[in-house]
Formats: sequence, structure tokens, C-alpha cells
Amino acid sequence: MAHSTHQKLLPTSTAGSLPKPSWLAEPEKLWSAWKLEGEELLDAKRDALKLSLHEQIHAGIDIVSDGEQTRQHFVTTFIEHLEGVDFEKRETMRIRNRYDASVPSVVGEVSRKKAVFVDDAKFLRSQTHQPIKWALPGPMTMIDTLYDGHYKSREKLAWEFAKILNQEALELEAAGVDIIQFDEPAFNVFFDEVNDWGIATLERALEGLKCETAVHICYGYGIKANTDWKQTLGNEWRQYEESFPKLQQSKLDIISLECQNSRVPMDLIELIRGKKVMVGAIDVATNVIETPEQVADTLRKALQFVDADKLYPSTNCGMAPLPRQVAQGKLNALSAGAEIIRQELAR
Ligand SMILES: [Zn+2]
Repeated sequence: MAHSTHQKLLPTSTAGSLPKPSWLAEPEKLWSAWKLEGEELLDAKRDALKLSLHEQIHAGIDIVSDGEQTRQHFVTTFIEHLEGVDFEKRETMRIRNRYDASVPSVVGEVSRKKAVFVDDAKFLRSQTHQPIKWALPGPMTMIDTLYDGHYKSREKLAWEFAKILNQEALELEAAGVDIIQFDEPAFNVFFDEVNDWGIATLERALEGLKCETAVHICYGYGIKANTDWKQTLGNEWRQYEESFPKLQQSKLDIISLECQNSRVPMDLIELIRGKKVMVGAIDVATNVIETPEQVADTLRKALQFVDADKLYPSTNCGMAPLPRQVAQGKLNALSAGAEIIRQELAR
């Protein structure tokens, strides 16, 4: 059942979500409502998953995913399946120090009564022999979307979520997932906590896993709150500098980061030397489709700081809010750009 991700140099992947078809959910927005319900919705989600897989394969993507077709949001959907969180009892909280949102409350001990994504992962596994990657939210990003009236400690709640994520991750691995990715955009915001317990809780989430593990740290979807925040970060975005030294020492195999059109100094990648690096070479905050040459340029720059056998071309973040044709164009560009560099390396 081992699906090697190492057959090809520069294997391409996406950071996570892909647009949903308009018959499944309202397109070009986050948290968009489902258009069907009951059995019809379950069928439709599977159909969309197949379609998303087909589109990735058609574009030549090597490490494929479910495109997050069965979930409404990368954090919320996971939490919705847990005990101890009340989605009716809402409080206003500041998310990642950036924007206010009405969030659910932790009202008791959190636990996972049954698997969340495992059936979907089995279904994806049954549809392809290519390596598959599955995304889960990371503990720190999860706690940052909740009001905690029970543990009253961000760290304590993060450790509890880490245990739950570990249960889910072990079952995903058993379902045949090759790479389990934890999304931790909060790592670019809460630097002291990242180093005090953020990375430690993430390592708890991957305890006992033998498959590859990744952490995706980014500057978020191309939504207004994120692009406004980016305007305040200055000419050089050095946020990764805070978490990378400790991540380099961590048990994670792969670090996924944002590089295309971002002001992240490429030499920061040197700080995680030895790790595999998923280099975001596709900007998700614009509908302008990169040319293969632009993708290749970004990968070429990254190659100064990461060995070719450890470079995984990817997207900056999820593409759920983009028009479908734009996302498809960007996937094609990613493949074509990676191929340019493969040929250069073969010379
Ligand atoms: Zn992201």
C-alpha cells in the first residue's frame, strides 16, 4: 500500500482546497452554503471529490488531494464533528489578531466520538494510485477560532485538540493517506506560543505516524482581511524566521510555505535546511494566472536554499475562493513550471 512520493523529482501538489462546482455550493466564497441536503448532498460531495481529483490529474499534479470538496471550511468542519463545542453559543473573538468573528464556544471536555474524514479519505484512496495528501487543521489554528469557556487556557485546549488530531491522523494513515498535512497559519502570528508549545502540540498530533507529515504555514486565503493585513507587514515578511529554527529541529518531514508574489525573503528557507519544502509558486490572492516561466523563476530561486530532491512545488494556500477556470489554469501553470525546472536539472 506504500505509494512512494519519491518517484519523480519536484512532485507537484496543492496546499489544500480547490473550488467547488456551482451545483454543490455557491462558488467563489468561503463558508459557502451547500446547495443540496441529505443523501443528495453526500452523493454530490463524492461526485465533486472525483471531479476535483480528475482536474488535478488532468493538470499533471503528482500528489493529489480531495480538494477539500466535502468540507465547508478547513478548520470549522473538523471542529463541528467534535464533542464539547457548542456552535449555537457564540462569542465575538479576534481571529489571528486580524479580524473579529462570531465563534463557537468550548463548553466541556473536547473529544472525537467518531472519525471525521476517514471515509472520504478511503474513497479518495479507492479512486487513484497516485500519492495522496490529506489536510487537517493544526491545534493552534483550531483554538484560535473558538471561545474557550471550559479549559480557559489556550495551551491546555491545544494539547486536547492534538490528542484528537492524532486519533484522526492514525486512521487516515491506515486508510492509505501518504502525507498528512496540518494547516497552521496561526504560526505566522503567535510567535511566542509557537515556540513555547505550538510545535510541541503539533508533534503530539503526529505521534506514532509512519507516513510523511507536513505543516502548512501561510499568509491565508486571498480574502480582504488577509490582504489588508499583508499591507501592514512591510517590505520584507520575516514571520517564518520565528518558527523555522524550531521546526527544523521538529519531527515534521515537510514544511509548506508561501513564496509566489509574497515578500518572504527566499533565504529564510535556509533555516529549515534538511527538511522537504513545499514551495508555494502559485499566488492564490489574484485571478491572474502565472506563466510557467514565473513558476519556474520562483522554483529556481528556492533551489538556492533547498536541495532538488527535497523541493515540492505547490500553491501558496488553498484556492477555494477562486473561479474554477482560474484554479485550473494555475494548476496547469504549476505543472508546466515544475517541468521546466526538471528539464534544467536533467541537463
Ligand atoms: Zn494556507
